[in-house]
Amino acid sequence: MVKRAPSRFNPDVLAREACRFEAELPISQFPRLAEQLFSTDGSVVATFGVNERKDHTVIRGSLSFDATLQCQRCVESFVMPIQADFELVCVASQAEADALPDALDPVVLDDNGQLHLVDLLEDDALLQLPDIPKHEDHESCQPGEQSFGDVQEATAADKSNPFGVLKDLKY
Ligand SMILES: [Zn+2]
Repeated sequence: MVKRAPSRFNPDVLAREACRFEAELPISQFPRLAEQLFSTDGSVVATFGVNERKDHTVIRGSLSFDATLQCQRCVESFVMPIQADFELVCVASQAEADALPDALDPVVLDDNGQLHLVDLLEDDALLQLPDIPKHEDHESCQPGEQSFGDVQEATAADKSNPFGVLKDLKY
């Protein structure tokens, strides 16, 4: 059974429901992710399950979204499909997060013991972005060609203008 996840929830309560949750949040609601993208069109889609394990509540799932990035070679934008699996341990504070073994990824709950979907998904979404975004295929990536064409057109237009001005002066 799949239920829609609330944008803010108590993980312990969801763990008792023993079902999977799905979420869809506009990219524009992720401030740090939006900063890295060329456009904030689209949504982050996620499904996850919540389980109690020994001392902690653990959230496992996957997320996906289409990242609109700017190619650092030809400066055109392009869309890269992103997919990531995550497993996060819920902790009450940053101190508790720091005390976790390195193999475990923490997510910190707010003062009311609630988890925000944005906090759950944003770090893992960010980790998937390439350090230097570039077109994978070279055919759609032609550095400089586009701007060279623009410059030529602009030059031709500039040359035709002075003659027009001279004609007006003679008249
Ligand atoms: Zn390119």
